[in-house]
Amino acid sequence: MDLAYTPEQEAFRAELRGFLVENLSGQVREKVRLGKRLTKAEMQDWHATLNARGWLAMNWPREYGGAEWDAVQRQIFEEEACRAHAPRIVPFGLKMLAPVLFEFGSEEQRQRFLPPILSGEHWWCQGYSEPGAGSDLASLRTRAVREGNHYVVNGQKTWTTLGQYANWIFCLVRTDPDAKKQEGISFLLIDMDTPGVTVRPIVLIDGAAEVNEVFFDNVRVPVENLVGEENRGWTYAKYLLTHERTNIAGVGFSDAALATLKHVAAHTMAGGRPLHQNPHFAARMAQVEIDLMAMRTTNLRMLSAAAKGQAPGVESSMLKVKGTLLRQELSALLRRAVGPDAMPYLPDFLDGGDNADPLGPEHAPAAAPEYFNMRKLSIFGGSNEVQRTIIAKSALGL
Ligand SMILES: Cc1cc2nc3c(=O)[nH]c(=O)nc-3n(C[C@H](O)[C@H](O)[C@H](O)COP(=O)(O)OP(=O)(O)OC[C@H]3O[C@@H](n4cnc5c(N)ncnc54)[C@H](O)[C@@H]3O)c2cc1C
Repeated sequence: MDLAYTPEQEAFRAELRGFLVENLSGQVREKVRLGKRLTKAEMQDWHATLNARGWLAMNWPREYGGAEWDAVQRQIFEEEACRAHAPRIVPFGLKMLAPVLFEFGSEEQRQRFLPPILSGEHWWCQGYSEPGAGSDLASLRTRAVREGNHYVVNGQKTWTTLGQYANWIFCLVRTDPDAKKQEGISFLLIDMDTPGVTVRPIVLIDGAAEVNEVFFDNVRVPVENLVGEENRGWTYAKYLLTHERTNIAGVGFSDAALATLKHVAAHTMAGGRPLHQNPHFAARMAQVEIDLMAMRTTNLRMLSAAAKGQAPGVESSMLKVKGTLLRQELSALLRRAVGPDAMPYLPDFLDGGDNADPLGPEHAPAAAPEYFNMRKLSIFGGSNEVQRTIIAKSALGL
C-alpha cells in the first residue's frame, strides 16, 4: 500500500490552491477563518462558483455534471478548502441524496432532481430523525398512506439541519405499519412548499437556529416522488448513511483548527510565557497532533482501499469516533487558550453584522459558541456510542 501522493495528485493540489486563491472572496474567507456564521446567499454563492468550474458535484458522474473525482482527489479538495477557509459544501443534496438517486432512483428522477441541485434551485434537507426515533431510527412513525396517485403524509421530523433554508426534504416514512419495523419504511421526496408543511426553528446552546422541527399535516405527495420501491426505504437510508459518515472524519477541518490553535497558543501570554510553553497545555496540543497524524494515516489507508474499489468497512466508524473527538478537543483547547475573552456572547459579531472589534484576540468571540456547537459531532450521523458498538462487534469480535 502506497500512502504517498503521486506527482499527478500534487499537481491537482496546486491547481486547487490556485483556484481557491483566485475565486474565494476575501470577505467570506475571513468570516470562515474567524468562525463567523455564513448567510444562505454566501453559501449559495460558493456553490455557484464551484459549479461554474465543474467542481461542485465532485462525486457525481460527468454525464450528470459531476467532476467524477476519486476518493483521494476529494480528500485533497477537503484539505485545501479547509486550509483556504472556504465555506463547507452543504452536503444534503450533493453528497447524500444524489448517491441514492444514482443507485436506486429512476432515470426520470435523476433528470428531474439532479440539475436543480447543481443550479442551487433546490436546497435539500434530511428528514430522518423524529422525536423517539434517533439511534433507533427504524422506530420512526411519520406515516404515508397511499390515496390514488398521492401519498398523504402526517407526522414530525426533528433536528433538521438548515431546514429553514430548504425547499425540498428527503424523508423516511412508514408505509406499512404492520410489517417488521425495517420493512415498512419508504424513501419519499417532499416539496416543502406543499400545503401542510411547517418548519419551526430550534435554537441550540450556541445561540444559533441551525436545526428545525418539520411537521407534516395531511401533506399530499405525488407517487412519482417515491424513490425505488415502496417499503424498501431502509436499504436506501442505510446506503445514504455510509456517505454521511465518510464526510464526518474531517481531517481537513482538524488540520485547519490545529494550525489556528498553534498560532493562538504561540501569541497568548499565560503566567509570563507563551501558552504553548505551558507543559500541561503543550501536552494536550501534542496529543491532538499525534492523534491527528494517526487518523490521517487511517484515512489514507481507507482512501487507498477505496481507490482499489473496496467498500469502506468498520474504518468509517473508527474515523467517525476519532475524528469527532479530535474536533471537540481542538475546540476545547481554543476556548481555553482565549480564556475569559471567550465569555461574552456577541451574536451581531458572529452573524457578521457588527464590524466593531471585540475584546481580546480575534478568535475569542467564536471560541465558546464553536466549542458548544461541536458537541453535536458525537451525536449526529450515528452517535459515537453506537459506532463503538459497531467497532466492538465488527473489528474486535466482542
Ligand atoms: C446538531 C444536530 C443536527 C442534526 N441534523 C439532522 C438532520 O439534518 N436530519 C436528521 O434526520 N437528523 C439530524 N440529527 C439527528 C441525529 O441523527 C440524532 O440526534 C442521533 O441519531 C441521535 O438520536 P437521538 O437524538 O434521538 O438520541 P438517542 O438515540 O435517544 O440517544 C440518546 C443517548 O443514548 C445513546 N444510545 C442510544 N442508543 C444506544 C445504544 N443502542 N447503545 C449505546 N448507547 C445508545 C446515544 O449514544 C445518546 O448518547 C441531528 C442532530 C444534531 C444534534
